[in-house]
This record gives sequence, structure tokens and C-alpha cells, in this order.
Amino acid sequence: MNIGIDIDNTITYTTEMILHYARIFGQDHGLNTVADPNEYYLEEALGWSSEAVEEFFDTYLVSIYHEVRPKEQAREITQQLHKQHQIMLITSRNYKFPGIEEVTRKWLQEHGIAYDRLILNATPNMYHFSKLAVCLQHGVNVMLEDHHDLARELSEFMPVILFDYPYNRHVQSENILRVNNWHEAYSCLNCLTRAEGTSRPIA
Ligand SMILES: [Mg+2]
Repeated sequence: MNIGIDIDNTITYTTEMILHYARIFGQDHGLNTVADPNEYYLEEALGWSSEAVEEFFDTYLVSIYHEVRPKEQAREITQQLHKQHQIMLITSRNYKFPGIEEVTRKWLQEHGIAYDRLILNATPNMYHFSKLAVCLQHGVNVMLEDHHDLARELSEFMPVILFDYPYNRHVQSENILRVNNWHEAYSCLNCLTRAEGTSRPIA
């Protein structure tokens, strides 16, 4: 199979690291530092202006991606999957943002995440892009995600294994398999692999 995997909040605990630096930035700038976990974007989660969010990311994004913690078993399970499957990391991290591709590749290597290709966001939107075209172009069979809108869009075309977060709980679909951790994600992938192995082409 071709397995597509998002990075932030799928392989990593990115929200945790963003909020660590948001507390520092917020205190320095007299801004709210208590986030609403039901909201995905910082503008809504913290009530900051888009200018403040932009300045925050300009200042701290490279540090966030450098210091972010991997989720438990992400390393072991991507290595296991890589023995049988193609792994494509597809992320909204934008390669035009200075230093982002470099810090991402270095982090993946240091944390032993196995993959064949890394595809970064190349759109003018620095923080988000639709992954559907990339998935279809590269024949991705299943995508691992945390983002609510991306999961919904992708699930029309392929199964999505969705890492559970308060901000994505409103998304439900037969094609969305909700998981709490990498162990559960691995079980889902094994089920999908078996299902694919037993399916026969229609004569
Ligand atoms: Mg993500």
C-alpha cells in the first residue's frame, strides 16, 4: 500500500509545543495564553489577531519543529510499516518558510521516522493546504491525519485514520477510523492491508 502520513499532531505533539511557546509570546505581548482545545487555529483557540499569530510563527516556528516531541511508537511503527509499504509524509508545513524543510528532515532523521518521500506545502498559504490532489497524484491508499477538514475531504476518496482531538470530534464518516494512538493506528492499517489482500478484481 501507499500510506500517506501527516506530521503535526499525527507523528508529533505539535499543539503542546506551540502552546509552550505561545505562553512565552503571550506574556511578552500581553495576550491571552489559555487555549480553547476545541479550536484548531490559534486565532480562535487563543483569540489572537492574525498579525500576532504571524509574528508568533515567524519568531518560533523553527524552534517548535526542532523541539517537538514524537508520539509514542511513531518511530517503531513507521519502521515496521516501511518494510512492506511505501510511506509518504504529506504536511502543511510550507517549504517557502525559511528553514522549515531543513528542520523537518533533520528531526525525522534524529527521531528515526521511516519514510520514502516528504511532500511539503508549496501553496501561497503558509500554514495549510488541501492534500487531496497530492494523495491522488501519488496513489495514496490511506491517509493518517488529525485535521478535521482534510480528513473529511480525503475520506470521500480513501480511508482516513484520524488521530482523535477535541477539535476534530465533529467529523464522522464510515471512511474515517478514529484512533487514540499509534498502536490503534497500526491495528487499523493491518485490517486495511488484509482487506486489500483478499479483494478480487471484478471480472
Ligand atoms: Mg496535522
